[in-house]
Amino acid sequence: YASIKKATLPAKKQTLSDIVIDNSKNEILAEKISIYIGDITHLEVDAIVNAANKSLLGGGGVDGAIHRGAGKYLLAECKTLGGCETGEAKITGSYQLPSKYIIHTVGPVGEKPGYLRNCYENSLKLALENNLRSIAFPCISTGIYHYPNEAAAHIAAGVVRKKLEEHADKFDRVIFCLFLDIDTNIYESILQSYFPLK
Ligand code: ADP
Repeated sequence: YASIKKATLPAKKQTLSDIVIDNSKNEILAEKISIYIGDITHLEVDAIVNAANKSLLGGGGVDGAIHRGAGKYLLAECKTLGGCETGEAKITGSYQLPSKYIIHTVGPVGEKPGYLRNCYENSLKLALENNLRSIAFPCISTGIYHYPNEAAAHIAAGVVRKKLEEHADKFDRVIFCLFLDIDTNIYESILQSYFPLK
C-alpha cells in the first residue's frame, strides 16, 4: 500500500482479523493494493463490486449509482439472475460503465462478520474464475446496512490479504473505493498493517 497520508484516526488495537500473514510476500502484495477516493462508477477496471440487495434489482447508495450509470440493460440482466443470498456474489456486464464487469454481492444487515467475509471472498473468487485481474470494492454493508465502519474495514483488508497471498499472480490490482471521509481515515490507518511496504 503505497500512498499513506498521516492517519487521523488512532489505529485501534484490533487483531489483524484472524489471518496469518506470510511476510515473504509483503512487498509484492503491497504493490497491488490501492485506495481510490470517490465514485466507483468512474473506475475503468476489470470488475467493480456492487453492494447490492437480495433482489439485485437496484437500490440506494452505491447500488443506485451503479444502476444509474450502467443503464437499463443492467437491470434487464439482473432480472434474469433470480436474486442473490447474503454473502453470495453474481457477475453481470457493465453496459455504459467503463469497467468490464460488475460483481454484485449482498452484504449483511448489521455486524455479521461471517457474511461480510463471504462477500469479499466470493467476489474475489468470481474475479478469479473469470480471469479478472483488477477489482474495486466499495465499503460493503457500511452504509444503509449499518455495519460498523472500522470492523468492516478489518474484514475487507484481512480477506483481501489472504486471497492475494494465495493468488498473487492472478491479480494486478485490488482497489478499496472510499466514498466517505470516515472510511478514508480508517483505511489509511489500517492498510499499512495488512500490506506493509517496508
Ligand atoms: P450497504 O447497503 O451495503 O450498506 P450502501 O450503498 O448504503 O451499501 O453503502 C456502502 C458504501 O458505499 C458506503 O460507504 C457509501 O458511502 C458508499 N457509496 C455510496 N455511493 C457510492 C459510489 N457512487 N461509489 C462508491 N461508494 C459509494
